[in-house]
Amino acid sequence: MKKNCLFCKKEFEVKPGDPQYRKLLANKAKSYVCKRCNQSLQTEASAATGLHPDQIDEHDKFLK
Ligand SMILES: [Zn+2]
Repeated sequence: MKKNCLFCKKEFEVKPGDPQYRKLLANKAKSYVCKRCNQSLQTEASAATGLHPDQIDEHDKFLK
């Protein structure tokens, strides 16, 4: 499926192997964050980003 990244607003093809794919499919995650933004998000994770803690956990798993 095609999704626009929440942060950089670029369009990405989200493949079934992507950790975020199933959530997006089930509509549990409303927004997609691309790999690059995921990484910059990690550095800002300790700051107040307004993101749900579960989302940050998901990004953690994604990077490991
Ligand atoms: Zn992005």
